[in-house]
Amino acid sequence: MDYQQIIEDIMLRVKPSLKDGKQADYIPALAKVNADQIGICLTTLEGNIFASGSADERFSIQSISKVFTLAMCLSIKGDLVWERMGKEPSGTAFNSLIQLEIEKGKPRNPFINSGAIVMCDMLISHFKARGEDYKTGYLSFIRSICGCNTIVYNTEIANSERSCGYLNAAIANILKYYGNVQNEIEEVLMFYFLTCSIEMSCCELSKAFLPFANHKKVFNYGGVCLTTSQIKRMNALMQTCGFYDESGDFSYLVGLPGKSGVGGGIAAVYPLRYSVAVWSPRLNDKGNSIVGLKALELLTTHTQESIF
Ligand code: GLU
Repeated sequence: MDYQQIIEDIMLRVKPSLKDGKQADYIPALAKVNADQIGICLTTLEGNIFASGSADERFSIQSISKVFTLAMCLSIKGDLVWERMGKEPSGTAFNSLIQLEIEKGKPRNPFINSGAIVMCDMLISHFKARGEDYKTGYLSFIRSICGCNTIVYNTEIANSERSCGYLNAAIANILKYYGNVQNEIEEVLMFYFLTCSIEMSCCELSKAFLPFANHKKVFNYGGVCLTTSQIKRMNALMQTCGFYDESGDFSYLVGLPGKSGVGGGIAAVYPLRYSVAVWSPRLNDKGNSIVGLKALELLTTHTQESIF
């Protein structure tokens, strides 16, 4: 398959849509990013890399981090994770409060904000019990899975989000009220914002997602170990819950497990074949990258490679 040629064709076809949509500005620091960009990088299981556009430019991964957070929690706690959150698509926005209140503080799934805040609480408790620093532990895993030691938190973005993160604070308060957050709200929220603030390029993200495309290989990165079955289940959750209330559309149009973030990134996997990351900052009203969605739809259409 000539992935490079296919990617170049996709770039030409999506360029006219680059001005569609609006980049996230509810996090003030994200509004500063040059929005007229697109990057794409596909990495095959054999290690071949096909990239185009701003594929090496780092951007804020935002909710894509929730995949890494879940990998750590599953590795540490196994199925106990599901005592504190569910596995069902939410059908609501990533920061919705209503469902969380109705369901008495049990998040629908790990890939919405409430689920990720609960997972951050789990990680804080775990690392503290071992006398270790959770921020370092988290970064070590991400550095290890993408083989790059220069990945860091962007504290300007995290602080910017904290300065106006009223909805996430409300979510954390509901979780605490129902006993689903054990540590101090402020500490848990700040850790959640830090995980979202990490910056990676499409090429780095594509590399970091490759192990999720290969459930046949041993998963052991920075002490985070997953079984074959856990990797397959993470893919199932990405398929059903990875795109907020647009997960059904993504499944219908693209047909790959994946996860998006409001920084404009999307990472997806074609199990046992490749991982792909695409980035373009302008979003639709569900919070997903317009050009990113289009590019991945074209990719699976051209290649006729999807899980369906
Ligand atoms: N930090 C963002 C928030 O909590 C993440 C949202 C996203 O990427 O979907 O609002």
